[in-house]
Amino acid sequence: MNENELNRRSFFRMALAAAAITPFALKSMKAEAAACPATAPAGKQVAQEGVGMAKGLDYVADGKTSKNPKHKPGQNCLNCKYYNDKKAEGGYAPCTMLGMKYVTNCGWCKSYLAK
Ligand code: SF4
Repeated sequence: MNENELNRRSFFRMALAAAAITPFALKSMKAEAAACPATAPAGKQVAQEGVGMAKGLDYVADGKTSKNPKHKPGQNCLNCKYYNDKKAEGGYAPCTMLGMKYVTNCGWCKSYLAK
């Protein structure tokens, strides 16, 4: 085996390894990338911390502030199964668990379920 063959094999091994880890890296980046939106969308019903169903589910508009022991770093509404991406507006989207009230992409509640 000459040096060119070794370099080619090394290249293909590295390319395969990169292709294998890329989806996980992107998912992880999405989990951490949820920056809290500055303002709520106009004309939408927005979940309020400590009010109604949001209170019962321990919802917080910024998941990083949650004191609920179930909350884990990287969990937020954006990567929750109940966050309705298709109706997202300005960093908010309706949440199935909160009666379709709009929640922040960086929020969290104890009904969190990973997508
Ligand atoms: S159920 Fe999911 S999307 Fe809804 S408030 Fe809780 S964490 Fe956010």
